[in-house]
Formats: sequence, C-alpha cells, structure tokens
Amino acid sequence: MRIELMDITMSFQDQPAVDKLNAVMESGDLVALLGPSGCGKSTTLFMLAGLYKPTGGQIRFDGQPVNHVEPEHRQIGMVFQNYALYPHMTVLQNILFPLKMKKMPKREALERARHMAELVRIGHLLDRKPGQLSGGQQQRVAIARALVKEPKLLLLDEPLSNLDARLRLEMREEIRRIQREIGITTVFVTHDQEEALSIADRILLMDQGKLQQYAAPLDIYRTPANRFIAEFIGMPRINLLSGSYDTDSRSLRVEGASAPLPMDLAEHHFREGQRISLGIRPEDCSITEPGEGNLSGEITYIELAGKDCWIRVSSGDHVIRLIAPSDTAIRQGDRVGITLNASKLHLFDAESGVRLG
Ligand code: ATP
Repeated sequence: MRIELMDITMSFQDQPAVDKLNAVMESGDLVALLGPSGCGKSTTLFMLAGLYKPTGGQIRFDGQPVNHVEPEHRQIGMVFQNYALYPHMTVLQNILFPLKMKKMPKREALERARHMAELVRIGHLLDRKPGQLSGGQQQRVAIARALVKEPKLLLLDEPLSNLDARLRLEMREEIRRIQREIGITTVFVTHDQEEALSIADRILLMDQGKLQQYAAPLDIYRTPANRFIAEFIGMPRINLLSGSYDTDSRSLRVEGASAPLPMDLAEHHFREGQRISLGIRPEDCSITEPGEGNLSGEITYIELAGKDCWIRVSSGDHVIRLIAPSDTAIRQGDRVGITLNASKLHLFDAESGVRLG
C-alpha cells in the first residue's frame, strides 16, 4: 500500500506534536520514523493507525483519504513495544484471535495462523503460553498476530526496545526478512539511529515535530541536510569545527588549523570571513606524524572496538573523534597530526545549520 502524508499536523492544546509533515511511503517500503524523544514519532504512527485524527492535513492510503476511517477499517497490523499478548491464551490462540474476531471459518483461520507461525518461525511453540517464551519469541508471536489478517500496512512501535543487544540484532534481521517475504509496507518507530540505518529503505527523521530529512539511509549519512541530522546520525558522532572563508586561498580557515584546508570553494561564492560549521566524520580523519596534516593535538582517549579503535584528540578548543585500525602504533598522551579528507567535508551555515555543500 502506498501512503501519502500531506501536510499532516497533530496539535495537543494548540501545541503541534507533528507539524505539517509531508512524505510518501512507497508500496513495500520499510520506513523508519527516527528522532529524539518527544519529536513526534509515536504521534505520527498513531495517526497512521487511526488512533489519533490529524488536526490538519490529509493521510491517503493508495490515493484514498483515510483521516476519518476508523482503525479497524484501515487494514493495518500493529506491534507495540510490550507486545501486548494475551497471557492466558496459547501462542496459537493469540495468533488466531484477530481471525476469531473477524468470524473467519475455523479451518481457514487455523490454516492461516499456522502458516503465519511458520513464517515467523514459531511453529513449534504453538501450545505454549506467552509466559513460557523468551522475549524474542514473544516478539515473533506479536508479529504473527499483527500479520494474520493480511493487513496492507504494518506499524511497529519501538518493537525491539525490550530485547537485549544480541536479540535486538537478530530480531531486526528477522523483521526485515519477514517484511521482504510478504512485501508489506512497514513503518517502524525507533530512536536508535543505527537500527534505522541498518533496517530501513528510507528514514524519516524528525525533530520537534518537524521533518528534518526523508531519504535512503546512505543518503542521510552521506549528505545530511543540516547540522542536527549530521550529529544525530553516525557513531562515533561527526566532528564539528568552526571555520571561516578565506578569500585569498578560496578555502576554509579552521580555528586551530595550521593552514587553510586544501579545497577550492570558489563555486560557493562565500563572503570573506563567512562563518561556517564544518563537519567531518571520524572515519574521514586520519592520524599522521606531529606537524603534518591539517590539525595537531594530543591523544586523550583510545577505546578498542574490535578491528578499529575510537580515538579522541584534543586540539585547541576542539576534541576530534577519529577511527583508526586497532594496530595503529599510538598511545594516550602522544602528540599527533590529523589529516581531514577534504573530499568528505560537510559544510553548514554556522547560524542556521543548513547544509551548504
Ligand atoms: P518517545 O521516543 O519519547 O516515545 P516520540 O518521538 O514518540 O517520543 P511523541 O510521543 O509523538 O514523541 O510526542 C510528541 C510530543 O507530543 C511530545 O512533546 C509529547 O509530550 C506530546 N504529546 C504526545 N501525546 C500527547 C497527548 N496525548 N497529549 C498531549 N501531548 C502529547
């Protein structure tokens, strides 16, 4: 099902929780609603579910306005954070429940429920009660129950937040597999940028009720539309440096840097001294000999993260985060140079934070 959000707004006591949101979700896409706590993710999901009626704008499913369609007539399946399984019913009874409500003939209902249980790989657990299942298994039951009515839209509200780190990884792959197998349009709420990057076809990133960017994960990572997004996406966090435009070298003078960066910015038509916020991801910075590179400083922290290590270098007023191979010969306290990969710089207007290039 194709979803259109057209200028949708949801205000509580005249305060917009979602403010004029526009987005199109193509049929079969998995869209992650991402953003910090309170940005309006759940409110958006509840509007899609029909649990909230937008106070402005229009939602369309396959071209049909649905603002006034009740949740039970929207052909949606929903999975909540706590799964909300019925504890006194078996797994099979839980999955059957929506079909029973629909008064589907018993044989057909049983066939469908069993098929769904196989799809989510809990066919061997049908006689158990939810209390006898692991978190991941309960999650699978909740997904099977949401899908058994063959909805056209699957809504997932932070479905992995109650699972431990390992299960979370396993279940996010599973959700992706199941979603692909049945090709259902899916909207997935998360505040975890890594989860969104790894699972989604497109990420809809919000802040304070407003859409910040709506794009494929790699596009958001590589070309964040503003400084907020650049900081929100990516681990370790992007480095942000203050700089100003230098007309003579047609490049950037970065505070604390030994020379303007080797890049020609003439095409941007910046003014002499124009204030710019410069973003560079940790993997686009590298350690060099002291006195070489664009910046210099002292290593204040090294953390081993498998084949790489995460490094912090204190350079003037800045702390630069870098990633380097674990076998790099460095120690805390070493003085080093830092080279910034000039082709990977992100330039933002220092005041508004809007991307310049
Ligand atoms: P979280 O990640 O913490 O769940 P969220 O991004 O899902 O946050 P929402 O729950 O959509 O955020 O809330 C967005 C804003 O709307 C918040 O400021 C919240 O306080 C407000 N809000 C949400 N629901 C209501 C409500 N029923 N009445 C009044 N204000 C609400």
